[in-house]
Amino acid sequence: MQETDLRTPAAGWDIHCHTRFSDGTETPDTLMRQARDIGLHGVAITDHDTWNGWQEAEAASRAYGIPLIRGTEITAHVDHTSVHILGYLYDPHDEDLAAMFRRTRTARLNRVREMVERIHADYPQVTWECVSRQVREGSQTTIGRPHIADALVALGICRDRNEAFSTIIASTNKYYIPVPSPTPLEVTRTVKKAGGAVVVAHAGDRSRNRQLLSDERLEELIDAGLDGIEVYHRGNLPDQRRRLKDIADSHGLIVTGGSDWHGAGKPNPLGENLTSDENVQRLVEGRALPVL
Ligand code: AMP
Ligand code: FE
Ligand code: FE
Ligand code: ZN
Repeated sequence: MQETDLRTPAAGWDIHCHTRFSDGTETPDTLMRQARDIGLHGVAITDHDTWNGWQEAEAASRAYGIPLIRGTEITAHVDHTSVHILGYLYDPHDEDLAAMFRRTRTARLNRVREMVERIHADYPQVTWECVSRQVREGSQTTIGRPHIADALVALGICRDRNEAFSTIIASTNKYYIPVPSPTPLEVTRTVKKAGGAVVVAHAGDRSRNRQLLSDERLEELIDAGLDGIEVYHRGNLPDQRRRLKDIADSHGLIVTGGSDWHGAGKPNPLGENLTSDENVQRLVEGRALPVL
């Protein structure tokens, strides 16, 4: 097998991007403008567990002439493994899907509040007040550990988000509480029913999980209509890219790539991993919503 197989396409779309509507630091407008400036063929906005950023992204897509896929990165959990599912071009008015987002967003809010209380017991200066000050779009923003991290940085307790994630808010630390989440199978079924495309994100990233999503669990998703696998992502090292690409190829699934851009919230530059035009074409065909 050619090693070039395992490297991102040189041109195409970045279909994994976060904004201020979840844990990114930039607006959807900035996302679309930067995409134009670096010559991307198009982008997908994929904030965690929400579509609140879509409207602003749509306006910016028109303003800058950059094609837009409307999407969401959906939180899931199975077998003690955290799983992120990218859903694209689904009907946002689907009641089951809306209810799933409402449940996860409420669970996230309660969980962050509870984590802040635990941290506050040892670090009295860390309060809900200073965490909520890091939330850039109020109740429109999907809250998460990155907002606690930003508060720890603002208070001078940590140098950057990365230090916060490897110390105080690490999933192995006593302050950590998992987000009560649906299973990837439930998420896949819900997005498919709402007419969307479903891609499993960074499933080979060992830094996120002690135990990766198994082949058996992946095949369960494939049986439920999984459309693609995100192979080109900085967290998937070559051995896992190989594994994921082989699974995708043997089941005729779409291979995708994305930067997981979070603005200043992560080192990943926009466009560092891409999806080819041909694969985007397959991904968007026949969905509930069009590409804009
Ligand atoms: P949560 O879903 O609230 O548990 O927070 C996880 C989110 O934090 C993920 O969506 C990542 O984007 C972000 N994240 C995880 N590790 C890091 C890190 N080391 N630096 C910056 N962001 C991170
Ligand atoms: Fe994130
Ligand atoms: Fe993710
Ligand atoms: Zn992401």
